[in-house]
Amino acid sequence: MSNDLFSNQQNDFIAQTNLLLKKLDDFIPENELEQFCEDLKSVINFHDKKYYVDADSVISDYDYDLLFKKLKQLEEENPNLITADSPTQRVAKGLNNEFATVAHLVPMLSLENSYNITDLQDFDTQVKKALSENAIIEYIAEPKFDGSSIALVYENDMLIRAATRGNGIEGDEITQNAKAIKSIPLKANFSQYGISKIEIRGEVIMELAVLEKLNKERKKQNEVLRQQNKKELELYKNARNTAAGSLRLKNPQEVAERKLDAILYQIGYAEDTNGNDITNIFESHFKNLETLDSLGFKTPFKEKEIFTSINDVEQFCLHWQDKRDSYPIDIDGMVIKVNSIQQQQVIGRTSHHPKWAIAYKFKAKQAYSKLHNVEFQIGRTGAITPVAKIEPVQLMGVEISSISLHNEDFIIDKDIRINDTVIVERAGDVIPYIVGSLAERRTGNETKIQFPTHCPSCNHTLVKPIEESIWRCVNANCPVQIEEHLIHFVSKEAMNIFGFGEENVRTFVNQNMITDIPSIYKIDYDKVATIEGWKTKSIQNLKDGIEKSKQNENWRLLVGLGVRHIGVTTAKMLAKQVDNLMDFSEWNEEQFLQLEDVGPKVALALQQFFADEENKNLLNQLQKLGLNLSKTETVLASNKLAGKTFLCTGTFPLNSRDDIKKMVENNGGKNLSAVSANLDYLIAGEKAGSKLAKALKIDSIKIIDENEFLKMIE
Ligand SMILES: [Zn+2]
Repeated sequence: MSNDLFSNQQNDFIAQTNLLLKKLDDFIPENELEQFCEDLKSVINFHDKKYYVDADSVISDYDYDLLFKKLKQLEEENPNLITADSPTQRVAKGLNNEFATVAHLVPMLSLENSYNITDLQDFDTQVKKALSENAIIEYIAEPKFDGSSIALVYENDMLIRAATRGNGIEGDEITQNAKAIKSIPLKANFSQYGISKIEIRGEVIMELAVLEKLNKERKKQNEVLRQQNKKELELYKNARNTAAGSLRLKNPQEVAERKLDAILYQIGYAEDTNGNDITNIFESHFKNLETLDSLGFKTPFKEKEIFTSINDVEQFCLHWQDKRDSYPIDIDGMVIKVNSIQQQQVIGRTSHHPKWAIAYKFKAKQAYSKLHNVEFQIGRTGAITPVAKIEPVQLMGVEISSISLHNEDFIIDKDIRINDTVIVERAGDVIPYIVGSLAERRTGNETKIQFPTHCPSCNHTLVKPIEESIWRCVNANCPVQIEEHLIHFVSKEAMNIFGFGEENVRTFVNQNMITDIPSIYKIDYDKVATIEGWKTKSIQNLKDGIEKSKQNENWRLLVGLGVRHIGVTTAKMLAKQVDNLMDFSEWNEEQFLQLEDVGPKVALALQQFFADEENKNLLNQLQKLGLNLSKTETVLASNKLAGKTFLCTGTFPLNSRDDIKKMVENNGGKNLSAVSANLDYLIAGEKAGSKLAKALKIDSIKIIDENEFLKMIE
């Protein structure tokens, strides 16, 4: 099928599709069978290209299946009509043999890496040195897809071979598996350019959404396996490994189910009908991409851009580095090439790398590290969190040596062991996490992580409530819990007591000067003066800070009490419901449930907390000590944002995020914490990451910047 047919005669294909659909039940005379099958093949191939390459569809799944089944049926009845480009031939039966080793038509070179503008400038200098003084140089840059390299050979327009990169000289022959990738055309009209044989290179990738979906399915399967006491399936760790592993599956049917994709971007070798080398038939890399694109391949043609200055190239690279978290495919850098093929030839290559191209590597998102040890930390709610101590690694410019393992189930799910090599990942501003361990790198020195049965602080037996995955120490007098609770109480988020930091709380707890919340308001300052480092001024600051906190708006106290599941937003909402926080002791679960954003779990936690005699006592004591438990009437600056919801993300030039949130509330608006269809406005600052990406997918959300927001409340 020619390029023109694909791009200009879509309507003809649709018309023919409809015609064929009508004829499916008709009797086809024998002399028309071959043509009928050819027509079926060509429309199915057209719809495959639409769907898998252009991400567009002009046929229902149902109609597509009807056409496909009909073709299959006719081919079964008439095996002589099966041709290599038939869509039914994409998925072959299981392979018995090992993959054969095949030589690439010309070696697949790797690219030299660069990491910053200096490296790029060096590259630019080398390029200029190789060319004549007044040569005009164009650079063409495109994303570097993080997948598994592949080389496809087409002869007389038919796909005849596919191979992995291997050592660059030879790779594994994986033709049947490549055919199962639907974005790879089985037939492409190279002959219109006089090309009779061609090797093109690219990357087999897995879209992140596909990876996520596969893992979701595995988790479902695992639930069943768990009930049957069978060994669970390992989850896929990342898109690149999964794509590479899938290419080497022995069952093309299974490869087809993995929904891989192939992006082609280079002509490795080409020859004409006389066997002459015409690899450089087109004048530029741009033209190569354009040609592959028009022949029905998936290419970076839309993403590529051409520059004449290396500084602009760097800007483009940085732009993509920022954007990569919201891009549907993993990319680990950019590829920069001299656009002109004639110039590429002049510049030449070393034995390992072409000298006219370079890879610009992004800061790593993933790294391998060694798990040395696991520590068990107790939080203020008594939750035990396992924390992995790993060999320090650099990820996106930050050194990481300690990572939460969340809970026991997480460790079991991922089968993480001490001394394992683990994959650490960090995306944007997200907290680093462990993706999994590499079982294939085990040496036998690994040991299973033993979860404690008793609290590391007070030695109380740990309990795990039904339907929860977290072990807890339920001893109300557990020293570490008390300490963590008090640190939380004085923190910025809660009572915001100036001059009272985490270290001070630890010292005071150690010296037995504070034991619970009320004791903070009864501190013996003479005793504080005896502690090293405390001078008259710092003592006065602390005293003032504690005194001032008594007048805090009462939602701060609510946060400070540390009721489970209650954060700042819920606390503010709750505080508006009653005249005095002690009134909540009269509330039943149902009343809490009536409140916006309060689910059954939170309602129960609130009801239990306020009905508890000790807690009632605590609130009473605090009121007597002078703390404000009453509602403070806030006077709104305006009602301009009434009924509207906002979420701010990223950093802003004029105001902090907290200030903007306050402005929203002061003008009658409401802050949300997550992107959903309930959100009206996303205020996006610099480095707005995943929330922005998510909001872009929901049409009803208006995305505004800080200035536009400020105009709304002017
Ligand atoms: Zn304990």
